[in-house]
Amino acid sequence: MPQEMVINPGKCTGCCTCALTCAITNHDEFDLTKAYVSIARNEFAGTFAITFSSLCRHCKKCALACPSGALRVVEAAGA
Ligand code: SF4
Ligand code: SF4
Repeated sequence: MPQEMVINPGKCTGCCTCALTCAITNHDEFDLTKAYVSIARNEFAGTFAITFSSLCRHCKKCALACPSGALRVVEAAGA
């Protein structure tokens, strides 16, 4: 069944589990700078922005690791 990633930045806690999972998956390194997803905090609003690099391989492992539901894997609509 085709799956897609759903992004809900409002649920992000800034834990960076997604980015660490990506770095370990793709580079075997515990290094946030190697991740293809990045988390940026808006200090005024207290919110987080989730940004994906063009190098993202769409493996969805970051979403499977997200503990808050900010990134989720669901069955693709119409699949
Ligand atoms: S979907 Fe992209 S950002 Fe997420 S773990 Fe895979 S390569 Fe990294
Ligand atoms: S998207 Fe999920 S795993 Fe990534 S920083 Fe936000 S809460 Fe943590």
